[in-house]
Amino acid sequence: MTSLVVVEHNNKEIASATKSTLAAAQKLNLEIWAIVIGFDCLGVAEQAQGFQCIKKIFCINDKLHEHHFAELHADQINQFLLQYNNVKNVLMSTSSLGKETMPRIAASQNVSQISDVTNILDNHEFERPIYAGNLTSRISSSEHIKLLTIRPTKFDTQILNGGDSIVESLKSIVADYKKKLVTREYTKSDRPDLASAKVVISGGRGLGSAENYLNTLEPLAKKMNAALGASRAAVDAGYAPNDYQVGQTGKIVAPEIYFAIGLSGSVQHLAGMKDSKIIIAINKDPDAPIFEVATYGLVADLFEVIPELTSKL
Ligand SMILES: Cc1cc2nc3c(=O)[nH]c(=O)nc-3n(C[C@H](O)[C@H](O)[C@H](O)COP(=O)(O)OP(=O)(O)OC[C@H]3O[C@@H](n4cnc5c(N)ncnc54)[C@H](O)[C@@H]3O)c2cc1C
Repeated sequence: MTSLVVVEHNNKEIASATKSTLAAAQKLNLEIWAIVIGFDCLGVAEQAQGFQCIKKIFCINDKLHEHHFAELHADQINQFLLQYNNVKNVLMSTSSLGKETMPRIAASQNVSQISDVTNILDNHEFERPIYAGNLTSRISSSEHIKLLTIRPTKFDTQILNGGDSIVESLKSIVADYKKKLVTREYTKSDRPDLASAKVVISGGRGLGSAENYLNTLEPLAKKMNAALGASRAAVDAGYAPNDYQVGQTGKIVAPEIYFAIGLSGSVQHLAGMKDSKIIIAINKDPDAPIFEVATYGLVADLFEVIPELTSKL
């Protein structure tokens, strides 16, 4: 019996979330196989070979998989499951691709998916957050195949190198596809990636304007080599771009240090950052809920203390 990890990548490099997915798969104590679907992605399969926990890698290399469409991923994986009925678990991360692909596989397999798994207790019992992370539910599953999406911040990315697995090429089952990717626009930023940064500096409505957000937080972020984040109120008010949003409907982060500046600490915001190792809150309201989760709290006007802090670093 095996667990199948779907490798997420950009045709060049393995996403760090896949390392967490592999760490989760190891908790299932079955042989681990990995599947790489993409185009010009043999280098990705070679990188996967470096991981000790993977016993076998399957690679599907096809121009039609260049842009990683969830529908095509799901078709390929369903085909794979038909061929290999020893696969008892399929794991992807709780990424956009995972969230789009896994429900399609679940529908085809007629099983319930288990989403956003934060802990694996054994091969049948899993934990996942509910009510914006205020409760953890324990789920027992008797499905013949478990389809799991894994919350990356809950599993280690430090997995052992030194693997020597073999790579087997599989044929793509996709002959033609009408959907075409027209353009892909990336936010240009000198800052580290929000999801994997060691330090995140998030600003909220208290910043008051887009100009204040940038002028106050960017110099600090530069000095600390930090990623910038924001509350939804700050994003909705146009202080920061959408992809900066942290929280239940934004990104989930767990950096070494999280600065919560001029944000109150709503349950929806906490759902995205409360696993951070150190939380530093700066707010002028001593009763702001963010202080309940903060490791260090400073009741102060952010426009006074942030420039002072930045100048002293
Ligand atoms: C379904 C749903 C999903 C949601 N998802 C998210 C999500 O993913 N992420 C998210 O963040 N929110 C989310 N929200 C919104 C959430 O409920 C809050 O409205 C939002 O988080 C509030 O943002 P804020 O803390 O910046 O603003 P506020 O709650 O208005 O807080 C502003 C804070 O700034 C402080 N402040 C003001 N001026 C200063 C100053 N000069 N110096 C220091 N402090 C100052 C104030 O004391 C106050 O505490 C969601 C809501 C819903 C209903």
